[in-house]
Amino acid sequence: MTRADVIIVGGGPAGAACAWQLRRRGIDCLILDKAAFPRTKLCAGWITPQVVSDLEIDIGAYPHRLLTFKVIHAHLFGMTLKVRSPQHSIRRFEFDDWLLKRSGTRVITHAVKRIAPRSGRYEIDGRFQCDYLVGAGGTACPVYRSLFREFDPRARRLQVAALEQELPYRWRDGDCHLWFFDKGLPGYSWYVPKQNGYLNLGVGGMVQGLRQKVGALQQHWDRLVTRLRRAGLIDENLPLAPRGYAYYLRDGARLTRRGNAFLVGDAAGLATCDLGEGIGPAVRSGILAANAIADGAPYSLEALPRYSLSALLPRPLLAFMHRAQGGLDAIGLRRRQVDRRQAS
Ligand SMILES: Cc1cc2nc3c(=O)[nH]c(=O)nc-3n(C[C@H](O)[C@H](O)[C@H](O)COP(=O)(O)OP(=O)(O)OC[C@H]3O[C@@H](n4cnc5c(N)ncnc54)[C@H](O)[C@@H]3O)c2cc1C
Repeated sequence: MTRADVIIVGGGPAGAACAWQLRRRGIDCLILDKAAFPRTKLCAGWITPQVVSDLEIDIGAYPHRLLTFKVIHAHLFGMTLKVRSPQHSIRRFEFDDWLLKRSGTRVITHAVKRIAPRSGRYEIDGRFQCDYLVGAGGTACPVYRSLFREFDPRARRLQVAALEQELPYRWRDGDCHLWFFDKGLPGYSWYVPKQNGYLNLGVGGMVQGLRQKVGALQQHWDRLVTRLRRAGLIDENLPLAPRGYAYYLRDGARLTRRGNAFLVGDAAGLATCDLGEGIGPAVRSGILAANAIADGAPYSLEALPRYSLSALLPRPLLAFMHRAQGGLDAIGLRRRQVDRRQAS
C-alpha cells in the first residue's frame, strides 16, 4: 500500500495547481493520473491574465511560448466588436505537462476506479491510502462519482458539448475570433491561433439548447468551417476531423467538500456560466483547496468569478446581451437561484 498525506486524482490544471500550492506550503502529496504526460486535452487553450498571475508564471521564462492577442473579435448578431484586452493562448499538450513538472510532485500513472473511506482515511483501488483526497479528474472524476454524485448530482441543463480540433497551421490572422449564437447555436464558435504554428477551432453550446439533438453540433461545426474558408482564415483543402467532449458550467453553490475529500476544477463543475472558461476556475480552486488543507480552514469558492465576460466586454454590450433572450438565456447569462448545499 502506498501512503501519502494528500492524494490528488488528476494532474490537469486543477490538480497541478493544487500540488504546486501544497508543496509551497510544505505538504507533500501524490498525483494519480490515468494518462502519461504530456497528454492531449480537448481545449481551445485561451488563458486570462488572471491565470498567469494566479500561477505566478513569468511569461518570458515559459519554455513553450504563449501568444498574446492584441484584439479579440466578438461577432454577434451581424456586428463585430473589437475587444482590446490582453488575453493569451497556450497549447494544453505543453502547458499541462509544464505545470505538472513545475509542481515538483510525485506522479503515478494509474486509472483510479474505486475509492472507499476507511477508518478516517481514503483507500484507492486497494493500492493507495491518504488522509486528504482531492478530486481533480475532470468531468468523469472518480472522486466525484464515488463520494459526491449521490449527494449533488449535476444538472443536465448545465451541460456543455463542444467539438474542436487543434492542428499545425501557418495562420495569417493572429487575433482571436468568437461568433456568438450563430444560427441558433446556444453558445459560440471560435478561432484561436497559437504562438508556435498551431490553430484551434471549435464550437460549443448548451446541450439542452441544441435544437436537433443528433448532429446539431456537427452542423454548427460545418457552418464555422464554411465561414472560416470564405473569410480566408483557413485554406480550402485543410483536412479537418473534430473531436467532442462535454463538461459542466457552474451554477450557484455546489457540494465541493465532504470530510477531507475536495473537488476542484471540472470535477466540481466550475466553468464560468457565460464563456465556459474552465482553466482559471480550475487553477483557483486547486490553490484554494491546498490552502484549506494546509490551514485546516473552510474551503470556500465564493471568490471564484462566475462570469468571464464582465472582465472582457464593455458594460453597454453586456446589458444588450442580457436583454436578448433565447440562446443568451441558455448559456446562463441570467443568475439562477440554487440551494446552498455546501457541507463540511
Ligand atoms: C472543446 C473545449 C474547449 C475549451 N476551451 C477552453 C478555453 O479556451 N479556456 C478555458 O479556460 N477553458 C476551456 N475549456 C474548459 C477547460 O478545458 C477545463 O475546464 C479544464 O481543462 C479543467 O481542468 P481540470 O484540471 O479540472 O480537468 P482536466 O484538464 O480535464 O484534467 C483532468 C485530469 O484527470 C485525469 N483523470 C480523469 N479520470 C481519471 C481517473 N479515473 N484516474 C486518474 N486520472 C484521471 C485526466 O487524465 C486528466 O489529466 C474548454 C473545454 C472544452 C471541452
